[in-house]
Amino acid sequence: MSKRTTSTLETLAEVFGYPAFRPHQAEIIDAIIAGSDAFVLMPTGGGKSLCFQIPALHRLGTAIVVSPLISLMKDQVDALRSNGVAAAVLNSSLLAEDSTAVLTSLRAGEIDLLYVSPERLVMEGFLQMLSRMKLALFAIDEAHCVSQWGHDFRPEYVQLGSLRDRFPGVPIVALTATADEQTRADVLRQLNMPDARTFVTGFDRPNIRYAAEYKTRPAVQLAAFLGRHQGESGIVYALSRRRVEEVADKLVGAGVRAAAYHAGMSAPARARVQDAFMGDRLDVVVATVAFGMGIDKPDVRFVVHYDMPKSIEGYYQETGRAGRDGLPAEALMLWSMQDVMTAKGFIDAVADKEQRRIETHKLNAMIAFAEALSCRRRALLGYFGEELVDDCGNCDVCADPPETYDATVDAQKALSAVYRLNERFGLGYVVDVLRGSEAGRILENGHDSLSVYGIGAGYSKDEWSSIFRQLIHRGYLRVDVAEYSTLKLNATAAAVLRGEEDVRLARPAAPRPKAEKVSKSAKRAKSLELDTDEQAELFERLRELRRQIAEEAAVPAYVVFADAALADMARRRPTSSQEFLLVNGVGRAKLERFGGAFMEVIAGG
Ligand code: ADP
Ligand code: ZN
Repeated sequence: MSKRTTSTLETLAEVFGYPAFRPHQAEIIDAIIAGSDAFVLMPTGGGKSLCFQIPALHRLGTAIVVSPLISLMKDQVDALRSNGVAAAVLNSSLLAEDSTAVLTSLRAGEIDLLYVSPERLVMEGFLQMLSRMKLALFAIDEAHCVSQWGHDFRPEYVQLGSLRDRFPGVPIVALTATADEQTRADVLRQLNMPDARTFVTGFDRPNIRYAAEYKTRPAVQLAAFLGRHQGESGIVYALSRRRVEEVADKLVGAGVRAAAYHAGMSAPARARVQDAFMGDRLDVVVATVAFGMGIDKPDVRFVVHYDMPKSIEGYYQETGRAGRDGLPAEALMLWSMQDVMTAKGFIDAVADKEQRRIETHKLNAMIAFAEALSCRRRALLGYFGEELVDDCGNCDVCADPPETYDATVDAQKALSAVYRLNERFGLGYVVDVLRGSEAGRILENGHDSLSVYGIGAGYSKDEWSSIFRQLIHRGYLRVDVAEYSTLKLNATAAAVLRGEEDVRLARPAAPRPKAEKVSKSAKRAKSLELDTDEQAELFERLRELRRQIAEEAAVPAYVVFADAALADMARRRPTSSQEFLLVNGVGRAKLERFGGAFMEVIAGG
């Protein structure tokens, strides 16, 4: 096995075809090459893999990579091989004879990176074999799985704690995208690596545009959004299986290449959907949260939440699946007061008081994010303890800041209606009274004789709902879920009612679904930063070639080339090997393997 003596930057260019390291990568790589243990906390798509793949090519011996998901291992190994790296996988999915072949080349020192499942790694015989070999490093991917604090605890990860004592002198690098402090400390403890150098990179994903819309006609809102993303890869998350199927059916009916994915489907059916998505034979997967772990498709252009998620952690992890390749991507969340009520209902059913408190806190943070009237990214990062200096300029609020107005009188009307109705009615009813509705129930209850009856006729239902939501969000009102979701006044409402406190709110506006008519290639050009129609059109032809090659080789499309590489190709139109090597994501191996075919398409157009 020949080890690289060139600089790591040269390895980056020659093997992976990238001109520069991302923030922190070079530092982490140098530390590991020098033999330190390392703990790497980087957001999804930040580029964790290179942090151990490049040291694996520079240190003597084989690097052992532990990864919890069989499908992900195979994809990573395919991607490495297509870059000409000697990589192999060892897990329960292999046939006996294939395992034997891998073990033989491993003993012969022919493998630079070996991906193994944790249960395979900790088999005593295998550990003994490894202890007689030269090892470059251990990389533990998704390292939060070792901690019970985390949300993906895997018992088989616990035994990895013995590696540190067993293999002195072999650096261990633990990698994760999971943020919280408790999990982080626990990972270091469980893996027995107190001296690990810790690298924490920011959580911001600047290429993702965040937006939230109040759900009025969700199907229409989704259709409008998808209209701006035709032919692109994306995920739509919904909370229940039934909803997943409904939405998927509707999309298929509308001609979208979509499919459903949830835990109620058979394993082969789920694998088919996942493969088709990875191979670009399917554009949109409508899924429950069961779909995600193991999706490392770099060119997912959007993630839609059709229902409000229960926590910001979950939301951030799910939206993080968009735009791993660093190109522009969009995250849209649809939400409603009904979603909030449903989530509250689940929390109320939790028996443990402390857990109920934690979940309520998480839900409130989620609601605050949904209702944010200032930069949404600031709210998100703030939740993870990271402060943004300036507003991001790449979220819906920054793009179109809500107009605020002196809402003191409106707030007084709303709060006194709740008061006059003795805090015994829900939002819909209170709004009806304010608007002077002649619904039977209101007349039967004699509420048409209240002083507040009809004093809010100037606003629509949607407008009043927006005002009430903002008042709830600001703590003047609360919703008593235990008592039929009735509205209750909080103590702070008194000052407003007495005219001692002014209230500023966002001007209530009916949400406007935006359906822009833009040509398909123009849309794609926008998200990939292609400048001309010719480039966008060439990109489509290169994409078609990629699809064919990937299908023949039975690998995900991005193993051939990522979208970013195809876009760069469409811009540069390389016609020689020299020029082809300049394309972002093209190293020696890919030039040799695919250069000819792609340059032929480029020359043909
Ligand atoms: P993570 O494991 O942190 O989620 P990956 O290691 O899968 O992220 O990297 C995400 C994407 O970014 C991959 O497509 C990868 O090839 C690309 N990438 C990583 N480092 C660089 C770099 N220095 N320059 C360009 N692209 C990079
Ligand atoms: Zn913003």
